[in-house]
Amino acid sequence: MNLDTPIEFIKGIGTERAKLIKNVLGIHNLEDFINFYPIRYIDKSKIYTVSELSPSLDVDIQLKGKITDIQEVVSPKGKRLSAKFRDQTGTIDLVWFRYSKWMKESIPMNKDLFIFGKIQAFNNSFSMPHPEIETDEAKAISGTLLPVYSSSEKLTKRGINNKLFQNVIYEILKILPQLIDENLPENLIKALKLLGRLDAFYNIHFPQNPQLAQEADRRIKFEEAFFFQLGFGLKKLHQHSKSIGNPFPIVGDYFNNFYNNNLPFDLTGAQKRVLKEIRTDMKRSTQMNRLLQGDVGSGKTMVALLTMLIAMDNNFQSCMMAPTEILAQQHFNSIQDLLKNSNVKVKLLTGSTKTSERKIIHEELLSGELSILIGTHAVLEDIVQFKNLGLVIIDEQHRFGVAQRAKLWAKNKIPPHILVMTATPIPRTLAMSFYSDLDVSVIDEMPVGRKPIVTAHRREKDRAYVYNFCHEELKKGRQVYFVYPLIEESETLDYKNLQDGFDHILNHFKSYNIAMLHGRMKPDEKDQAMQYFASGNAQIMVATTVIEVGVNVPNASVMVIESAERFGLSQLHQLRGRVGRGAEQSYCILMTSDKLSAESRKRIKTMCETNDGFKISEVDMELRGPGDILGTQQSGVVDFKKLNLMTDSQIIKLAKLAVEQLLEKDALLVHPNHQSMKTFYIRQYKSKNKWSKIS
Ligand code: ADP
Ligand code: MG
Repeated sequence: MNLDTPIEFIKGIGTERAKLIKNVLGIHNLEDFINFYPIRYIDKSKIYTVSELSPSLDVDIQLKGKITDIQEVVSPKGKRLSAKFRDQTGTIDLVWFRYSKWMKESIPMNKDLFIFGKIQAFNNSFSMPHPEIETDEAKAISGTLLPVYSSSEKLTKRGINNKLFQNVIYEILKILPQLIDENLPENLIKALKLLGRLDAFYNIHFPQNPQLAQEADRRIKFEEAFFFQLGFGLKKLHQHSKSIGNPFPIVGDYFNNFYNNNLPFDLTGAQKRVLKEIRTDMKRSTQMNRLLQGDVGSGKTMVALLTMLIAMDNNFQSCMMAPTEILAQQHFNSIQDLLKNSNVKVKLLTGSTKTSERKIIHEELLSGELSILIGTHAVLEDIVQFKNLGLVIIDEQHRFGVAQRAKLWAKNKIPPHILVMTATPIPRTLAMSFYSDLDVSVIDEMPVGRKPIVTAHRREKDRAYVYNFCHEELKKGRQVYFVYPLIEESETLDYKNLQDGFDHILNHFKSYNIAMLHGRMKPDEKDQAMQYFASGNAQIMVATTVIEVGVNVPNASVMVIESAERFGLSQLHQLRGRVGRGAEQSYCILMTSDKLSAESRKRIKTMCETNDGFKISEVDMELRGPGDILGTQQSGVVDFKKLNLMTDSQIIKLAKLAVEQLLEKDALLVHPNHQSMKTFYIRQYKSKNKWSKIS
């Protein structure tokens, strides 16, 4: 037997059950079983007597005695199996509503045994439905806490129940010393007062006492965090040793002229702080790799522009990449507008840039005449070459694949500094661990004078009221968005949905001009529609989620989201960020059907309660788990069994520090004390970390 032994070779499982366990629980071998942790424990340290029972006893309890008088009872409600259980002090009823012939025959009669379960009080008598039965005294009262493993009805029906898991794992633990080694260095275990690995597994499954259960939990969490960080630490070392960068020592005229004469507003404290962090990075002769997080509307664009001006002061070109044509266009417009009093040359390159214009851009990039290029994926094409690209800014990084980003690196001999900007707030603990090979800056402060968006939940019956409200706002000169969900399975249906919405809105808002925007439109059609709305010629925009990212129309103050229950939380937050960009009070109205699932209700409620993207992302993570938040591309990377990224930040910090200290001394893991750790790391994690560079 070793860790890789398939579970069908475990006594008591067999091929049929093994198949089910593999399919339902994903447990394939011995190692998976060792890592299949209990969801809770039950206390069997005390043996009650029948005379001690009271209706208020609300825990699972254990009794010692004999089972007698077993019989099948047929009533109008159905069949059940019933029996008596006696000890020296009294009698209770046992009852089974689901049972097999086999089970009925295997219940031991008139034998000393232990039963375990929850009691129910009825008049003055007690009963215990579906008791667990144990005939082995040693097992009944061994250890104080017994594990409860998650199972399902499907499994229980086939005899794959808690009892089986307990027995199987109990048996595996007996040979555990042959199976596993300590994988953390001795001195670390001592310094952090961690449980040894063997003890951790013994006590996570069959704790000697509650204290040890907790320590086992801590040790296992630490181990998960440690090896996760080790992966990043090793990668970071590797990367740093390779990635030299161009130092930007100067802050010169481009930056200063703009900062002193053309800055349209004072920077927020957070913007200033982040800029300083970026500046410090770029002074060095190593490549900057920084993630800039800032909620929707926190002013990331200005930080991007100022960073690009520093690049110019050091004689380098910059490239800024956005995930959609609309967004690239908007960045281009706002940056061009900000730079209108300067002699900085900025151009836009997207899929719809005309060939003649493209040619000029290519030439100007090569000659160095063009300082700032803004664009979409089009900038990645091999034909786009720079004279000296020093800085790459990527907006909304979740939309870009790893491979695409790597392409940008290659556009300069010495790789450009990288600034990745995202408005999808990632909880700090997650950012800290997940992006530990990127440095993280956070804009956690909004520009002054912003009025928080008022968000309300409305149902179909309120529609007339909602339209009235929109009319009022339109009369004041504001603009309104109506957003429809994407139905992923069918683009045609999507379109129909949107078209119906459009016709409907057209009917109810006859005196206004309406723009429509959806994913099937050609880029220039999209531009036209956007322009129609942004210019104010259209007062209403009916759209799918294509407007989700980055679009900036400050005069739009109302957003109505149709079928809001069909959107994810972060998507709702992104959408809502399209309003609240001007001086006026803005509103977001979430329209839903009357019936909502508990999860949808929680999403809608969260949206109504807060505008804080970090809080929202935390709820989102609670609801969906971290894998989903990071996007499918990265999911599976953070599938911790015990570690909770939300609540275990203490442990994550400890692990991070431990890894840093360890790698400082032994970056190549050659020290004899680190060999079993290295072996474990290679076995566990190397194959999982297929994705390499984040940017
Ligand atoms: P995001 O971080 O979502 O990309 P933007 O950069 O689009 O946000 O900024 C949102 C709006 O806030 C823009 O209209 C921008 O001009 C404005 N803005 C940015 N920084 C400040 C500031 N310090 N004070 C006032 N307004 C600001
Ligand atoms: Mg933006």
